[in-house]
Amino acid sequence: MKFYDYAGIIHMHSSFSFDGHATMEQILSATRKTGIDFLMLTDHDHLQARREGWEGWQDKTLVVVGEEIAPRFNHYLAFAIQEPVSYDGDPQGKNPQKYIDDVNKQGGFGIIAHPDHEGTEMFHVKHYCWNDWNVSGYAAVGIWDFMTDWQKSLRGYCSGLLGFLFPAYLLKGPRRVTLERWDALNQIGKTVGIGELDNHASIKKFLGIRFVAFPFERAFRFIRTHVLLDQPFCGDSRQDIDRLFQALLSGRCYFALDYFVPSRGFQFIIEQDGQVFSQGERLKLSGSARLSVSCPVSAQIRIIRNGREVHRTAAERLSLPVEQTGVYRAEVFLKKMGKFRPWIFSNPIFIT
Ligand SMILES: [Zn+2]
Ligand SMILES: [Zn+2]
Repeated sequence: MKFYDYAGIIHMHSSFSFDGHATMEQILSATRKTGIDFLMLTDHDHLQARREGWEGWQDKTLVVVGEEIAPRFNHYLAFAIQEPVSYDGDPQGKNPQKYIDDVNKQGGFGIIAHPDHEGTEMFHVKHYCWNDWNVSGYAAVGIWDFMTDWQKSLRGYCSGLLGFLFPAYLLKGPRRVTLERWDALNQIGKTVGIGELDNHASIKKFLGIRFVAFPFERAFRFIRTHVLLDQPFCGDSRQDIDRLFQALLSGRCYFALDYFVPSRGFQFIIEQDGQVFSQGERLKLSGSARLSVSCPVSAQIRIIRNGREVHRTAAERLSLPVEQTGVYRAEVFLKKMGKFRPWIFSNPIFIT
């Protein structure tokens, strides 16, 4: 089965954000150099970039303008909204259900952002976690956030310097707590997982030197979310944004660290009685199902069922009979410099 695999960035800030430092022109120039197909921009608390005409196809990049609703805690990425959603009167974000509902009332959808962010004391970054899991009505959760992962590696001047020079080598992958929660949520319903970048092209000072921590041209090589479409984009901004949203909302997507080897072409499917089920889909087990994973290069493939690893193999392709119902997803680790490093994380397929 052929899918059209589009790689994009979800969650990033332009100079329309008070703490963003790159203009849209600079950001789009970086997408051209790095082969990014779509950008889901999330400036803080407004949709200014759309008002100034940046939404839609910009050369070869599809730009979607969303908003990061960002009180002190419980940051929420809102898309497909017509007006900005505010958290006025709730600066601590104590009632995230209110803004989740406000997004849905506009016909939009939202993603829980960097839920297990811890910040880094050493570089004066506070923790911006999600602390209310009684909420409902959100569409997806950020499972692997570049900033959460990278900032966690900064523990001292030495790791700080290495972290700035070789960020991809310090990344540990999605946090265990985030994956466990995601697996638990998928036992009771369907929660789509995505990857986040949350880059601001911030100006940092390290050992007395001021520099841009991650210019977008560099940052775009890290965590990307890939959507899988049945047909290629048609070139019409409205239709293509709708199709991108549909793929995301149905969970037909995976997220990956594309730094070492681009993950494009990764596939995780289950075949049964001549029918193919892809990520985000549900099927009823009838006795002859077969799960397959295919990667662009040989890597360590792990199959997770109901939150537990049930198979691990080093290969470019994997094909296994499926004998039990459950929620199946794949994780892929790539060996680089003698270590297996987190690479690709699929969305689950649900077998009942
Ligand atoms: Zn945030
Ligand atoms: Zn952000």
